[in-house]
Amino acid sequence: MNTRNKVRWERMFPDELESAFTACPLLYLTYGLCEPHGPQNALGLDALKAHALACHAADEHGGIVAPPDYWHIHEVGQFAHWLEARVGHIERGWMSALPPWQHFKNVCYQIRAADNLGFKAVILLTGHYGANWEDLKTLVALIQPHVGARLHALPDFEANTAGFFGDGTHARDHAGKVETSQLMALEPDCVDLSRLPPDGAPEPQFALGPDFRLSGRREGEAMVKSQVAWLGAKGRELLARHEAEKPAARLRSYDQVEALWRDVVVPKFADFKTMRAVEAPPLPADSPWAANAAYRIWA
Ligand SMILES: [Zn+2]
Repeated sequence: MNTRNKVRWERMFPDELESAFTACPLLYLTYGLCEPHGPQNALGLDALKAHALACHAADEHGGIVAPPDYWHIHEVGQFAHWLEARVGHIERGWMSALPPWQHFKNVCYQIRAADNLGFKAVILLTGHYGANWEDLKTLVALIQPHVGARLHALPDFEANTAGFFGDGTHARDHAGKVETSQLMALEPDCVDLSRLPPDGAPEPQFALGPDFRLSGRREGEAMVKSQVAWLGAKGRELLARHEAEKPAARLRSYDQVEALWRDVVVPKFADFKTMRAVEAPPLPADSPWAANAAYRIWA
């Protein structure tokens, strides 16, 4: 992934950050985790994709990209059931997983860092799906009244206006044509089709979308182009909203974050889908995914 301008917070010097901030006080927070994505994709696909999309958007339209967060929700509840069905009994899943409440509290602290620095807009972009992207939207709606920066949270497919399914919804998958093509366009070193089994061999079950053989870099580039344009427009919209609304709130201290978590977020845990019990028979006791499958903090 090459961009012309420096946009990555962790790779910039203080004077570069100051001038990028002055030109466009928009921050991208990007999320994903390491999880199986078929034999042909590097494990970090979700965050590699989200972070690279944000870097291209900031390069073209302005903004700064925060260090990516590679620790995300998995192995719990519905995710454990998905792992049982789609990955199977492997010895090591190589996942950088956290439970939902840990992840979402980190998000609150990341938003506090942005607000304390004076960013006027924050786009939170997740490349990891399941219900966690819906919960991210729930969280952002809950805390927006207490934050100065105007916030928008989305899964990357919300911005993918180049790819649609037959029913008109935005194209998304798990390590199938969509994600593999996107990664080919964004991080070509992280896709290796020679690792797929030969034609005619039994298809690996390893968390692989069924249409993966249709993947192509040009399809990926078209999707990425649409996503970068969408993100640029959303950033401008959020900055204009800040200008119009002139919010008085600003999240500055750790104490404020703890109070927000305790008084605003925790009472609404029942609204978070990743914290709900799964209505399915329990996983077999010998499943490597059984340990956290039934775990929940809200019935
Ligand atoms: Zn993925």
